[in-house]
Amino acid sequence: MKVLVTGGAGYIGSVTAARLIEAGHAVTVLDDLSTGHADAVPAGARFVHGRVHDAAELLGAELASFDGAVHLAAASLVAESVENPGKYQENNVVGSDRLIDALARAGVGRIVFSSTAAVYGEPECVPIDEDAPCRPVNPYGESKLAIDHLLGDVAERSRLATVSLRYFNVAGAYAGLGERHRQESHLIPIALQAALGQRGDMVIFGEDYPTPDGTCVRDYIHVADIAAAHLLALEHARPGVHLICNLGNGSGYSVREVLATVEQVTGRVLDVRVAGRRAGDPAVLVASAARARRELGWVPERPELSVMVADAWKLVAAKGAR
Ligand code: UDP
Repeated sequence: MKVLVTGGAGYIGSVTAARLIEAGHAVTVLDDLSTGHADAVPAGARFVHGRVHDAAELLGAELASFDGAVHLAAASLVAESVENPGKYQENNVVGSDRLIDALARAGVGRIVFSSTAAVYGEPECVPIDEDAPCRPVNPYGESKLAIDHLLGDVAERSRLATVSLRYFNVAGAYAGLGERHRQESHLIPIALQAALGQRGDMVIFGEDYPTPDGTCVRDYIHVADIAAAHLLALEHARPGVHLICNLGNGSGYSVREVLATVEQVTGRVLDVRVAGRRAGDPAVLVASAARARRELGWVPERPELSVMVADAWKLVAAKGAR
């Protein structure tokens, strides 16, 4: 297939582009490099620099030659979305609306979209399946939910085949590609930076949650497994249908368990301090990915947290040593 990957210079996008190329697909990456890195675009992909808003102008008549699009380009910082909701409306919702419209007009039949567990907000019960109520608690989650709705509409209206993949907590690295955010807010990369001595103490946000050790529980999923789901989604997408699938391993790890794994993998002792809760953090987020298994035949190959941490550590330790 000839596939357009928006956000292919970012963490999940670059790994997805790499796996598409490995599988023999022709890949064009569209990325504005606002948060991505040009050197993360995998060798073998064509690179187009620009915003998803302008896909029709940037790609012109060539747009019609794509068999499918994987749309990952987005602003994705929860805290920033609370401070600047307008950016999330403009970047994510308006940009996706224009892109989807351009793809539909050009007759690109399949769209796979990076949605998020953040669309569910504070869950009523776990594991969370796709029928759980969607009540996002921040503008980031709201923007992704709005795009899910756009994809539902376009599937019905234009008989496109659309898939929303709702990721839980993505971790690990693949083929030399890992998490490199300019503003890091995620637990595992922060803990690895602390293990490398690149930051001081490690802060746990809240130890008074109703969980076994009082810290938040999340469902971590390897980035290579997430990327594999996109390939399966492109294959299994059906015209006129909007399929929504959660992607997670179905088991949770607490913040303390993650930090213990980081210490075990790196052989370093972290200087850990407990602070108050971070606003908007639900106590437990664990996926039911039964639908992805059933509809896409998706089976995660790297479900162990220690493998995710070890793969990320290999990459950051090699870069830190340079
Ligand atoms: N967390 C923490 N310290 C940090 C970063 C994160 O205790 O420096 C916690 C955070 O409160 C949440 C969990 O780790 O409970 C996972 O947070 P992350 O930002 O990695 O992902 P999220 O679940 O928010 O998408």
